[in-house]
Amino acid sequence: MTGPVPAQSEQLSVDAYAAVAGEDVILQLRRLAEPLAGKRVVHVNSTRQGGGVAEILAKMIPLMRDLGLDARWEVITGTPDFFQCTKGFHNALQGDRVEIPDRLLAVYEDVNRQNADALRDVLKDADFVFVHDPQPAPLLHFTGTRSGKWIWRCHIDASRPQRNVWRYLRRFVSGYDASVFSLPAFTQSLPHPQYVIPPSIDPLSDKNRELEPAEVAGVFDRFGIDPDRPMILQVSRYDRFKDPIGVIQAYRMAKRYIPGLQLVLAGGGADDDPEGEAVLAEVRTAANGDPDIHILVLPPDSHMTINALQRAADIVLQKSLKEGFGLTVSEAMWKRKPVIGGNVGGIRLQVINHQTGFLVNSPEGAALRIRYLLHKRDKLEKMGERAREYVRTNFLLTRHLREYLTMMLGLMHGNAPRIELS
Ligand code: UDP
Repeated sequence: MTGPVPAQSEQLSVDAYAAVAGEDVILQLRRLAEPLAGKRVVHVNSTRQGGGVAEILAKMIPLMRDLGLDARWEVITGTPDFFQCTKGFHNALQGDRVEIPDRLLAVYEDVNRQNADALRDVLKDADFVFVHDPQPAPLLHFTGTRSGKWIWRCHIDASRPQRNVWRYLRRFVSGYDASVFSLPAFTQSLPHPQYVIPPSIDPLSDKNRELEPAEVAGVFDRFGIDPDRPMILQVSRYDRFKDPIGVIQAYRMAKRYIPGLQLVLAGGGADDDPEGEAVLAEVRTAANGDPDIHILVLPPDSHMTINALQRAADIVLQKSLKEGFGLTVSEAMWKRKPVIGGNVGGIRLQVINHQTGFLVNSPEGAALRIRYLLHKRDKLEKMGERAREYVRTNFLLTRHLREYLTMMLGLMHGNAPRIELS
């Protein structure tokens, strides 16, 4: 039932991060990891490509391995009905009203039962199992006996979940030893410790590393974007919560004052997101053939292309209506771009209003801020510098790793009266 053998073997070294994060940060990571050497850690999610969770795991696993942990990444497989059900969970946890028929709930449980059977040997002996999001949440229930600590890692903006859906999922989540949410506002009533750990970006990945000017300029030709006119960008899966239609509306309003304005919407699918095609069709209809709106559908490994687009843009938008975190926000800020973001969820953690970008509540608000920044280039640049520094301090992978290691040590020692971390 599990996917192809995971890319366990990609070699990364935490030492490489010293240049960005500082020597002391690396030293601290190595010391924290010492008591965890050889521990078997399994991360489980539902897609190897597409979306923020896969983006993080692709780097987190090799770095944990470099720190001496025996870490691996497993991906559950499912049927179209399964992913329709879990997309319903996703939408309901983010506050939509969704009716999920019992037939789909039965599929959800059945698929998890089968995946638990296939993964039982790996899971039951693991010292730590991180289960990401609702898709594989029932694995613990169906695995039965376990020896290690199980952690449910919720990446979703669960600040106002649809109650009956959460009540159903909570039955599976309650048995975990801990859960992790990205923001305090997302935590729930649960019978175990809840950790608040925001996600992070990898500054050395193809998505975020420095690029040569020619590599950045390449995207202008490739996608027919005019380098001499301003360009705004949103990078996102085609998902209604990302509000691509609102972005088009904001672009249209701003364009009345900035006639040369161009908009790039860059997206692609995730294997576990069945709604992308429908949303893409809505976006195409809304764009109505405007030659200055570039709707890109990129293959899942387009990391350098996205990196170049983020660098080529004047401003980056993330006008989400709900957002667990929004890696795209930190990705853009790392490239010194002020972000105009929806005033929701994890975007609020990254966009400090008027400092590292602007928080907006409507397409009108976004249009106003686009105009402001394009007319005040000095402000745009200052905000971009602050944005970069804010990400360096708060949202790099090294901080994320440190918090996971600390949590694992805490869980390992349980209620011990004294825990020595070094
Ligand atoms: N992404 C990508 N290709 C796309 C759209 C998004 O590689 O076509 C990446 C994006 O750069 C980011 C991640 O996928 O690293 C999306 O994570 P985010 O937290 O922003 O949103 P999610 O998709 O998890 O809701």
